[in-house]
Amino acid sequence: MSMIDTTDAPRRIALVGAPVEAGASQGGCVMGPAALRTAGLADALARLGHTVEDHGDLAPRAVDAVALPGHARNAATVAGWARVLSDHAAAAMASGALPIFLGGDHSLSMGSVDGASRHWRAAGRELFVLWLDAHADFNTPLTTPSGNMHGMSLALLCGEEGADGVLDPASRVPVDPSNVCLFGLRSVDREERALVIERGVQVFDMHGIDVDGVSVLVRRVLDAVEARDGVLHVSLDVDFLDPSIAPGVGTTVPGGITYREAHLIMELLHDSGRVGSIDLVELNPFLDERGRSALVMVELAASLLGRRVLDRQTRAPRAA
Ligand code: MG
Ligand code: MG
Repeated sequence: MSMIDTTDAPRRIALVGAPVEAGASQGGCVMGPAALRTAGLADALARLGHTVEDHGDLAPRAVDAVALPGHARNAATVAGWARVLSDHAAAAMASGALPIFLGGDHSLSMGSVDGASRHWRAAGRELFVLWLDAHADFNTPLTTPSGNMHGMSLALLCGEEGADGVLDPASRVPVDPSNVCLFGLRSVDREERALVIERGVQVFDMHGIDVDGVSVLVRRVLDAVEARDGVLHVSLDVDFLDPSIAPGVGTTVPGGITYREAHLIMELLHDSGRVGSIDLVELNPFLDERGRSALVMVELAASLLGRRVLDRQTRAPRAA
């Protein structure tokens, strides 16, 4: 079955604000959803012909202290966000919407991806996850050097120890690690590197990207999704991008994806027609420079939803 014929069809897009910063080491991500709205996200998507509904900012569910092995800061708050986001994601997708989660730190993806995983399991389709990030976010409470849960989201989604304390054990649907691709990786802790390899997560690090180029590697990701008629969740961390174009993030790592590479990736993903849900995470407006990073994230979201760079009619980011 091909979904190619639907790539240019207007979608109903649901913006879901998740101002969570309990998973990060420093404050500021709480302002992320407001900055993405101020940078014109809804207008940019509406101009492409999509119907955009803004669900506002969610609030975390009250969760009693969660028992996790090892070290995890603010675990009850992170769990409260993950659970409310999982339910909201599953309901939004069941209604036919394509949700975009506005972060908020990357711990929110435990909720958004789990909701997508629940939805596609019920629909009989296979979920794939593309994690666009400088980091693997594959620590567990037992391996983490910092205790910051935004560095554990992917591991817990894949069912590593601790997942049942964060997500609802009665409803969560673990993601198959072999359906996960880490793309843009350039900073990884020792124990998490071992776990990523052991679990069979696909990794395209910056070395591979430099050697093969993004179009070849994105095509490889999409081939795997298409071979199983799967659906793709795209989780975009601001630090995927080079800090020269997106300084507004607490975890900058030099040597990141360029502006042109990032747009090409988004366009290839759009053309596949396989993207069913999206996270825009880790934007920290307190660290940004006059909204540059927020504007870049909005432009990338627009490319992911069908805009071509050459057709662009809105504000361009300042040259780096
Ligand atoms: Mg991340
Ligand atoms: Mg990161």
